[in-house]
Amino acid sequence: MGFLSRMFGKREEGVDKAVHELVEMIRSDNEAVRAKAAVDLYRHPCDTAINALIDALSDDSKQVRENAAESLRVIAERGQYMIPAEPLLEAVRKEPGWWSLKECLRRLGFENQVEEILSKSYTAGPKYKVRCMAFRCPHCGVEITRVPSWPAHGKEVAFYAQEDLYRAGAYHIELICRGCGKTVYVVWDDDPQ
Ligand SMILES: [Zn+2]
Repeated sequence: MGFLSRMFGKREEGVDKAVHELVEMIRSDNEAVRAKAAVDLYRHPCDTAINALIDALSDDSKQVRENAAESLRVIAERGQYMIPAEPLLEAVRKEPGWWSLKECLRRLGFENQVEEILSKSYTAGPKYKVRCMAFRCPHCGVEITRVPSWPAHGKEVAFYAQEDLYRAGAYHIELICRGCGKTVYVVWDDDPQ
């Protein structure tokens, strides 16, 4: 049983009936039932629910896996409950494009470990040093977290990642995606400097 139980040295007591029902559901043979339980479990942050969601990260169904990751992300974002990082990191190593899981890990303070996994996964294109607000490559959908340069207010001013400079905006940077090796333009409508 749970990582958390071990961490805190005791099993939690009096787990909700609702949680038990959802845990039964997430182990059902019916994919739709499992997918629904994976969504609903985010409402009950506790050891039992989190362990069930972590198990569901290796479900055969992509929908169930995605729902479970999204539930974990919401729990992490709300800071409602401790989530063990290692099983999540393991899942991201297998599937580096898994956005919700990476967001969850970032919320939990494992940003550097996520970066390390990503830098091992994608090898095309140059290595950039400057960290930016994460966005997706418009060509291949890979998440981009480092760029050659980033304006001082790049985060506060709305920006767009584009395949070309058709919409030029007030300011832009240019980079090569490490996922696909193609050129990406990040464009700001207002001056972000
Ligand atoms: Zn790309």
